[in-house]
Amino acid sequence: MRVINFNPGPAGLPTAALERARDELLDFQGTGMSIIEHSHRGKAFEAVHNETLALVKELLAVPDTHEILFLQGGASQQFAQVPMNFLPQGGSADYVVTGGWSEKAVDEARYYGTPRIAANTVDKDKRFTRIPTQAELQLDPKAAYVHMTSNNTLFGTQWHTFPEVGQVPLVADMSSDILWKPIDVSRFALIYAGAQKNIGPSGIVLVLVEKSFLAKGRKDIPKIFRYTTYAENNSLYNTPPTFSIYLCRNVLAWIKGVGGLKQVEAWNREKGELLYAAIDRNAGFYRAPVEKASRSYMNVVFRLPDEKLEEAFVAEGARAGMVGLKGHRITGGIRVSLYNAVTVDHVKTLVSFMDDFAKRNG
Ligand code: PMP
Repeated sequence: MRVINFNPGPAGLPTAALERARDELLDFQGTGMSIIEHSHRGKAFEAVHNETLALVKELLAVPDTHEILFLQGGASQQFAQVPMNFLPQGGSADYVVTGGWSEKAVDEARYYGTPRIAANTVDKDKRFTRIPTQAELQLDPKAAYVHMTSNNTLFGTQWHTFPEVGQVPLVADMSSDILWKPIDVSRFALIYAGAQKNIGPSGIVLVLVEKSFLAKGRKDIPKIFRYTTYAENNSLYNTPPTFSIYLCRNVLAWIKGVGGLKQVEAWNREKGELLYAAIDRNAGFYRAPVEKASRSYMNVVFRLPDEKLEEAFVAEGARAGMVGLKGHRITGGIRVSLYNAVTVDHVKTLVSFMDDFAKRNG
């Protein structure tokens, strides 16, 4: 029996995508071997690879101005690869710091140039409970780019309106909310997202990059780290993680099959609203630290009256078939990740558990 999986990433995948992998595992489309055993240069894998890229293009309505790339090294490698490619010597880039992952991105940029902090929403307790307002952003019109984190996986905040940054290229780490709803890709010079939440398994990073931005990339860095290398080789410069790409194909095909990102967004909004309503109606027991306007639909964080009750909540939840409820070690408390594979029914099960737990322990 499959559990209800609220893990923050790697996260649950749609059962249909896993069943398809199971059914095709030993004999991929009559070839007598699994897709993992095919050459990455062969026809069978090439078709899967191109189908995956085409599904990304279709689902996210990626305009022809942008390349779609698959890279390795995780989103953490992107923290370094973005400045490595796009921070010219002596140049500076603006960073909007809204959580632990944005801080890591800034740290990596320091190896290549000067990251300016355009805003930092950390509070006196070192917590991040909100997204900055447009007025708070101190942007440098000469910046090589502005870097932001669209959803803060640890702290449970999310941008609901993307910032206006003038003519400066906007770069976003969308690891934990890509594909949660349709977005206007044309607003971004570069988007990167580790796959292991909404796209598929770990081992692959999706990058959407504007061709005109790509042309500005530095050429004095090793080929393997240049985005142009992947763009020029259909993301098959060297051997990619073929099984990860194959599984992303299954997940993306599932999204398309259920009605695309409009349907996924409707489910995600319903899930988030159900869960926040449960927190708010038990406000004397559950406490959400995030400002309402900055609440994330992907990672919902909250506290109970004390740590003992939080431990009991996680343990009882697990006994009721729900895993992944424990908050990040930095933040403590409870974190519920509501990525696309989590269903409205899963959240209804959680919410009735929460009401009952509050009644028994409040
Ligand atoms: N950015 C965000 C927003 C994340 O949530 C994570 C990891 N969960 C990362 C970056 C780092 O990803 P990776 O482990 O793939 O390097």
